[in-house]
Amino acid sequence: MSSYDVSALRSQFPILATEVHGEPLVYLDNAATSQKPRVVLETSRNYYEQLNSNIHRGTHYLAQQATAACEKSRDVVGQHLNAGAREEIVFTSGTTDSINLVSSILGYSGTIGPGDIILISNLEHHSNTVPWQMLCERSGATLEVIPVTEEGAIDLVAFHRLLDDHQGTLKLVALTHISNAFGTMLPVESMIKEAHRAGSLVLIDGAQAVPHLPVDVQKLDADFYVFSGHKVYAPTGIGVLYGKRALLDSLPPWRGGGEMIQKVSYDGTTYNDLPYKYEAGTPNIEGAIALAAALEFLNDLGPEALLEHEQVLIRQAASALSSIDGLMLYGPEDRSGALSFNIEGIHHYDLGTLLDKMGIAIRTGHHCCQPLMSRFGITGTLRASFACFNDTSDVQRLVEAVEKGSSMLR
Ligand code: PMP
Repeated sequence: MSSYDVSALRSQFPILATEVHGEPLVYLDNAATSQKPRVVLETSRNYYEQLNSNIHRGTHYLAQQATAACEKSRDVVGQHLNAGAREEIVFTSGTTDSINLVSSILGYSGTIGPGDIILISNLEHHSNTVPWQMLCERSGATLEVIPVTEEGAIDLVAFHRLLDDHQGTLKLVALTHISNAFGTMLPVESMIKEAHRAGSLVLIDGAQAVPHLPVDVQKLDADFYVFSGHKVYAPTGIGVLYGKRALLDSLPPWRGGGEMIQKVSYDGTTYNDLPYKYEAGTPNIEGAIALAAALEFLNDLGPEALLEHEQVLIRQAASALSSIDGLMLYGPEDRSGALSFNIEGIHHYDLGTLLDKMGIAIRTGHHCCQPLMSRFGITGTLRASFACFNDTSDVQRLVEAVEKGSSMLR
């Protein structure tokens, strides 16, 4: 689509015709999960109606067709991220699963051990925090945290100081590309470069970036890059771990079972090549195939036009909301995807409940970022998060509902 036609796009999302409490739905909870376009819904349905079969091990027609479709999806994901090789794309169940995979193999292999440092930021989702805390408990490593500024941006001065302080012991930097709570974008490309210079590996949590930005893992030079299908117009239960081939080759397997082996005997088992070494058991075949359809849908929107469309909406919303009495926005002005706010004297949950009654779906609470909420002395925020199908009428309805709701609660 060269000129971005949002009304044509909206008609591709059947759920947008839903009424909520008698009001037309305004869906602004895309950072939690995005709605699915018809092409993705049809791909899932067609898979079960025409291809359903277990993959890789079957000689029959359906098994071969399903295997080919699933492996083609791996190519689509690899191209979408500009991976260097298809072997670098591992299907997982989502971002959380991908991060747990990486934290486990870095622990098993002794890549991270006693006295080592793992560095995360204060903006991380719990799923890019807790697996590292667990690895520290198991391995004797220590978790350090890059603070955020008062504005909700990453504190780069502190980052540089932490890199200097931990030269030699810093083994991993794990950062979100875009904060799900505040929409803060991190300058990951330069941070990766600096972390590498300090001798560290880097994992980027792209759960909130892949839906909004073109991502080039080779240009970023990330060692690991992870995301979830369900936030990028695909079904739940499918996700991706990208890892540099040489690195994944050198690391041990994680889960054991079918598919991840070359030969099994009681005298010893040998493991499969990448990416199957990390794909034990029957994968989410339908999810992988539908993920490819979702990424093709996303590409067809035109990454620049999509980014521009979402940025315009988020700036409109930020500007209109900030004129509401007592309303406070979190995060820097150049936020992406999500807009977080609170209104003085009003609990986010109470206002969120009233917004729901007016048909507006936004998220309230800590957004799985409790350490970030503590940093700002709050228990949570209201968060509106945008996708390709949102339009200016969604922004207007949101702003009117926040005005009305907050005056009712005062
Ligand atoms: N990281 C970020 C930045 C997220 O926004 C989320 C989901 N809210 C996750 C990780 C976890 O993703 P999932 O639940 O799909 O594993």
